[in-house]
Amino acid sequence: MATKTVAGDLIDRLQRIVGPGGVHHRPADLLVYEYDGSVEGAVDTARPLAVTLPTSTEQVAAIVRVARDANLPVTARGAGTGLSGGAVAREGGIIIALTRMDRVLEIDPIDHTALVEPGVINLELSEQTLPGGHFFAPDPSSQKACTIGGNVAENSGGPHCLKYGVTTNHILGLEVVLPDGRIAWLGGGAADRPGYDLTGALVGSEGMLGIVTKALVRLTPVPAATVVMLAAFANIDSASQAVTRIIGVGILPAALEMMDALTIQAVEPAFHAGYPMDAGAVLIVEVDGSTDEVREVEG
Ligand SMILES: Cc1cc2nc3c(=O)[nH]c(=O)nc-3n(C[C@H](O)[C@H](O)[C@H](O)COP(=O)(O)OP(=O)(O)OC[C@H]3O[C@@H](n4cnc5c(N)ncnc54)[C@H](O)[C@@H]3O)c2cc1C
Repeated sequence: MATKTVAGDLIDRLQRIVGPGGVHHRPADLLVYEYDGSVEGAVDTARPLAVTLPTSTEQVAAIVRVARDANLPVTARGAGTGLSGGAVAREGGIIIALTRMDRVLEIDPIDHTALVEPGVINLELSEQTLPGGHFFAPDPSSQKACTIGGNVAENSGGPHCLKYGVTTNHILGLEVVLPDGRIAWLGGGAADRPGYDLTGALVGSEGMLGIVTKALVRLTPVPAATVVMLAAFANIDSASQAVTRIIGVGILPAALEMMDALTIQAVEPAFHAGYPMDAGAVLIVEVDGSTDEVREVEG
């Protein structure tokens, strides 16, 4: 009778948890998981023993327990857009890819919250909540691809962080699988909860403290009015002084982005957005709020 290898036995155990279609273990299938969005060469790449694609919290917990029994490192992975190598496998370890846990479980328009699985794509959450007048404010530039689990682990932000804050300001509670395979709920919907802010500790921990399997997120009401303005300046200094003055008079734009001459000259010929090619710098200022507030800033 053929003797099973240790690796073969482990893959069998993983397949019993998630089914044969939920485990990748052939070299060609593993290759893509040796990378994330980090610059090639910046992070050591490594081939995992297996990539698992669970569909439930219980499956995640069972995989963690198998890995723990075998003393193998576990790496959580969302869309793999991270720029710091966090989703890159450890040699011979197990990747838990959360992309099949991609359901928005509940939307509560009264409490302005949503309960989501970690593999929900950032932009898709806003698209699903928009008909009810809400959006998920953290908007990393990778939002068409990156997942809520990855956003939580990286405490991601985007252009609208200036007014709305980063991911940590929008996470109320988390279900996590701990390194020993236990399932825990941290935080919740109630305001000013007593005790340690363990949800806050988890956000930004890059998957080191546990695997997020559900997130209770805060939804932001879509503002009544939004206006985007473009202002051209002779140089970066004068554009920077304008930023100081905008904030100084008490205007908090939803987004405030600066482009220097080099960027304008690269972007305008490619996208024809209307940026003045002779400007030393431009500011793109987005202001939102009530119609009156926006009209006052515009005027
Ligand atoms: C073109 C581009 C633009 C970007 N722009 C921005 C930007 O504007 N702002 C910004 O902040 N970032 C930006 N990023 C970085 C990246 O997109 C974000 O960090 C994003 O939140 C990562 O999400 P992900 O699903 O791809 O996570 P992954 O890359 O898969 O994982 C990132 C980290 O999260 C951990 N992780 C993933 N899922 C879980 C989970 N369920 N539980 C626990 N840990 C988990 C992983 O182990 C890893 O450490 C950009 C990246 C690219 C390629």
